[in-house]
Amino acid sequence: MKLKYVDVHAHMNEDIFNKDRDKILKECENKGILVINCSGEPKANRDSLKLLKYPNVRICLGIYPIQTAEMKDSEFFKELNFIEENKDKIVGIGEVGLDFYWIKDETKRYLQMERFKEIIWLANKLRLPLNVHSRDAEKQTIAILSKMAHVPVVLHAFNGDVKLAKFGASQGFYFSIPPSIVRSKRKQEIVKALPIERILTETDSPYLGPTRERNDPRNIPLVIEKIAEIKQIEIEEARKQILKNVGNVFLLFN
Ligand SMILES: [Zn+2]
Repeated sequence: MKLKYVDVHAHMNEDIFNKDRDKILKECENKGILVINCSGEPKANRDSLKLLKYPNVRICLGIYPIQTAEMKDSEFFKELNFIEENKDKIVGIGEVGLDFYWIKDETKRYLQMERFKEIIWLANKLRLPLNVHSRDAEKQTIAILSKMAHVPVVLHAFNGDVKLAKFGASQGFYFSIPPSIVRSKRKQEIVKALPIERILTETDSPYLGPTRERNDPRNIPLVIEKIAEIKQIEIEEARKQILKNVGNVFLLFN
């Protein structure tokens, strides 16, 4: 495959793709689209590993923030161990992070933050990049990462304000932009404000599509087009720069 695009955050393990996963990933291969699958629950992590049979899929394993807020200590550390055991099969750790949209309880939020720190510690130890969720907790996520992370950080579908995005960029973090950029003013503003060297592409499939329909990684070229339009550069220039950025975060071939 001639690599042209990378979707740095998708959930192709989800059941919604059971009928046509093969077809979608084959079409991606033909178009030069490599997919980094992310997951964050014990079952999803095991299902995600099975996707390694596709030549154009790489994976990140993680523990989703809604899970970290609810898991028992034994469950949490068991899954953290599972991730470490599979370190040679993965290109990063994710989906991990903080979610204050679904988790409102202060004690649970505190637990979420403590466990996020444990996860960052593991990423540092394994020297693997972090693929991070930060819904309604953008400030806290960036504060913890800028203190603790010594590995590349990807903030996925970031929805914080432009000022905070710029601060994140100054810390060397990357921002992955989904196809919902075509309908999200906030994401357009973020792309406008960030240097293109800090931008990556994702789909968060099956979520965050250009419409409310099921999203899939074949929409990545659309994201590149929109970024090029906002940055007022050639589409090919945007594509090449973003591919280069991906190479600065993930070791995709070894
Ligand atoms: Zn996701």
